[in-house]
This record gives sequence, structure tokens and C-alpha cells, in this order.
Amino acid sequence: MKVEIIKCLSDNYSYLIYEKETNTVSIIDPSEFAACDKIIKKYNKLDFILNTHHHADHVDGNLNLKKKYNAKILGSGLDKERIPGIDVLLKENQKQKIGNLEFQVIFVPGHTKGHIAFYFKKEKIVFTGDALFSLGCGRIFEGTYKEMFDSLVKLKNLPPETKVYCGHEYTKSNLEFCLKYDPKNNLLKDKSLKLDSILKKNLPSIPTTIEDEIKMNIFLRFDNVSIKEGLNLKDSSDQEIFSKLRDLKDTF
Ligand code: ZN
Ligand code: FE
Repeated sequence: MKVEIIKCLSDNYSYLIYEKETNTVSIIDPSEFAACDKIIKKYNKLDFILNTHHHADHVDGNLNLKKKYNAKILGSGLDKERIPGIDVLLKENQKQKIGNLEFQVIFVPGHTKGHIAFYFKKEKIVFTGDALFSLGCGRIFEGTYKEMFDSLVKLKNLPPETKVYCGHEYTKSNLEFCLKYDPKNNLLKDKSLKLDSILKKNLPSIPTTIEDEIKMNIFLRFDNVSIKEGLNLKDSSDQEIFSKLRDLKDTF
């Protein structure tokens, strides 16, 4: 499985997945037609489009790509009215094949009601859309704090070596937020230096891994004592800590 990162709009990432044995080409979250088509042209075909959620910056390329390549569009059944051109309605925990590759649908609502992640277990890769970012998580637009919290716990429980490909390049501002409320975390300071040199070269900070996120992403560190104390919420539950951090990030 080969993953190509496609920069779209100002800070979106779409991804092309190529599976050689059956010559299957798929795109995750085509933000815009032109940027995706430029990469797809190298393969001269597109079999599948996978959408993590219905927001325009993740589905705007759907219809034009479908028209040009006759690709099938897969998305959450809960978003069947909102994902343009959807053909295959996916359900929680469903296993689905694209060529020889198999992924599992992880239901991760919170950012939107129907948000899903695509987990390729054998390849140890997960596409998380706007649920989990490198060092951050999506804003809660349609769901509840509890839904978002439960979604992040599901992702946190994937094998640590799992590579994470998310929907946006928000790593830099996420890191600044993490450092503010987790100032004793030396890994964040190391990460900051590395990240600056990556971004200076205009390279993506993606993928990250579940292991790195557990160590550095404050939205997965709701059980960390020093973070809780820093918030003056020593006795609060993990979910309360998460909710507080989410609120603070909204106005950061
Ligand atoms: Zn979104
Ligand atoms: Fe987005």
C-alpha cells in the first residue's frame, strides 16, 4: 500500500492510496478536484473515493472526480444525504475491501454526527479526517463532548505503531497549545524544533503515530496528573479534563 499526500486548499490533506497487485487507486477526502486530479493522472484511473465526513473541504472533489473516472464513493450511511455522489453506505465496524486492501470503519462522531475513520489493520495505518489531528483534535460542531471523547479513546486504543494520516496541517498551532498546558513535556520541546525544520521546507508533518500522539497530544493525555493540576482540576474525570481542554482550544 502506497500513500501519497496531496496538499489541498490552504491546509487540507487529501490522500491517494495505491494497491499494486490489483492496480487499485483510491482517494481519501478529495478537498478539490484539480490538486487531486494532478496526482491521479499518474495512474490514469480512480476506483474509489472515501470520505471521512461531509464537510466541503473533504468532499468538494467528489462529483467531478466521479464524473471523470467513474469512481465509487464510500462514506458513512449517516451522511447519505450530505456526501455528494455517495454510492456505498458504510456502518460502524464494517470491514470493506478496496482491491486487495481491507479497512475497518471506526465510528468517531463529535466533529460531525457521521464522522468515520478508515483503519487498515494489516498495514497499520489509520485515516482520521478531522477527528484526530497531529497534536490536536477536531472542533465539536455536531456531536457532544462525550461523543468526541469516546471517539478519541477508540483511536488511542489502536496499536501504538499505527500511522496516523489526518485531514489538516494544524500541527504547529496544536503544538503551541499543547506546550501551554503541558509545559513539562520535554518531548514537545524536541518536537517543536523538528517541526520547524520540516515546515520550513514546506513538507507535511504527517504521518504521526498513535504512540507519539499518546505521548504528546494533550487531547489524549486527559489522565495525566500534571496536566490536571495545571488546570486546577485535580479531582475531575478524564472526560471533564478533555472538555475543559477542548473549550480552551476553541478560544486559543
Ligand atoms: Zn471537518
Ligand atoms: Fe476539515
